[in-house]
Amino acid sequence: MTLADDAIAWFDVNARDLPWRQPDTTPWGVLVSEVMLQQTPVVRVEPAWRSWMTRWPEPAALAADPQSEAIRMWGRLGYPRRAMRLHACAVAIVERHGGRVPSSLDELLALPGVGTYTGRAVATFAYGQRHPVVDTNVRRVVCRAVEGKPDAGPATTAADLTAMEALLPDDEARAARASIAFMELGAIVCTARAPKCVDCPFHDVCAWRLTGLPLPEGPSRKPQRYAGTDRQVRGLLLEVLRHATGPVSRQRLDLVWQDEVQRARALAGLVEDGLVENLGTNDFVLAGDAPRGDVQSLF
Ligand code: SF4
Repeated sequence: MTLADDAIAWFDVNARDLPWRQPDTTPWGVLVSEVMLQQTPVVRVEPAWRSWMTRWPEPAALAADPQSEAIRMWGRLGYPRRAMRLHACAVAIVERHGGRVPSSLDELLALPGVGTYTGRAVATFAYGQRHPVVDTNVRRVVCRAVEGKPDAGPATTAADLTAMEALLPDDEARAARASIAFMELGAIVCTARAPKCVDCPFHDVCAWRLTGLPLPEGPSRKPQRYAGTDRQVRGLLLEVLRHATGPVSRQRLDLVWQDEVQRARALAGLVEDGLVENLGTNDFVLAGDAPRGDVQSLF
């Protein structure tokens, strides 16, 4: 039995029942889920994904709506530039591929906002191809089980892909199954802070466990703070703009955060990132909501 065999056998019994894993999920549904899951936990993604897929079941439906609608629907999932990227991706899928998510890895990687991870995830999970799919969770599992180290350290894409590819079965369908199984193991068993080794299919062979789970050297990483950050202020500003039915005045936006310098920096960042447009007379809208010709540069 290889690690992949063990992982697949475990996944067959223990996989979470997630909507984007249902057999009738389209490649578009898989793509949307992968973008949403990149920086947001499953529990928050699930309702958002369902709403998104109900409203835009195909890329063409999203592409036909303005970008502002994508930002609105993104709600409070965080890192809202992902909504813009998904919209741009939908437009490109319509223009280049007749509205069908391409199956070739090269064509996927050429889509706007689709990177090494997302392209391989869609080719593997939607089309059942054999590609190494490496996210933080997979890197950690491979590093612990194969290399005997607790922490995978900084990402080195090429080396990570090579290490994962070496573990994949030759058979395409089983390789795709192994990829998702490794990912699931990292998400719910071999977690960063409290690996549940007794529940792990690699329990008897894991190199890190067999060396006694030596702790990482150096200080442990602190979880990222959110309260009081520019990210929080950006979220508050966007929340107002998302619910507005017309342009929002700077005076109205001033109410969301007391610190003037931080507020101005957050608003400028949103404009710079293309999420918000300035209509000139101190009015702001979500990107895509402005009548063309009204947009002006900020400050
Ligand atoms: S045995 Fe423990 S450390 Fe090793 S892969 Fe499994 S959960 Fe992770």
